[in-house]
Amino acid sequence: MDDIIGKILISEDDIKQRVAELGAEISRDYKGRQPILVNILKGGIIFLSDLVRQLEVLHEIDFMSVSSYESQTESTGVVRILADLNINIEGKDVIIVEDIVDSGLTLDYIRHILLARRPKSMTICTLLDKTATRKIEVPLDYVGFEIPDEFVIGYGLDYMQKYRNLPYVAVLKPGG
Ligand code: 5GP
Repeated sequence: MDDIIGKILISEDDIKQRVAELGAEISRDYKGRQPILVNILKGGIIFLSDLVRQLEVLHEIDFMSVSSYESQTESTGVVRILADLNINIEGKDVIIVEDIVDSGLTLDYIRHILLARRPKSMTICTLLDKTATRKIEVPLDYVGFEIPDEFVIGYGLDYMQKYRNLPYVAVLKPGG
């Protein structure tokens, strides 16, 4: 396992503190409302489960599963919905909760699919933001950490479906 895990970019303590701050900020902004937190499986589940325990407003959670059509290793931004939301979001306050925004293509596509369902409002909360690799501007309302253009694992983020359980965010070791 150590062959794969490179430098720790964000420690467990730093994540904990930042998630608490985001929870407090969202609770303040959504006071008196009952948002639906929409999570795109699977990377964001650890973040979502920690985040909701910091919320002081009533809320619901729901999930979507998508697969992106990829060209080589690049995300094309065209996604197929594998599992859709159970909740009808029309007229509701929606918060999309993501693990990481890279090119932004996937999130932009999902955002438009959900906006077509006419929610009352929509915001986006991401734990990690790779600003340097953005290809399309996506409005990010809540950002945990800005990170450099490195492939990261842990805290929900995988390498070949593994290492999601690491309590910190680390860089994948080159050639590991
Ligand atoms: P985008 O369409 O923004 O380029 O792709 C976003 C998706 O790519 C994320 O939801 C995530 O699944 C994956 N991704 C992007 N960067 C990383 C990374 O550094 N590590 C991991 N594990 N996944 C990433």
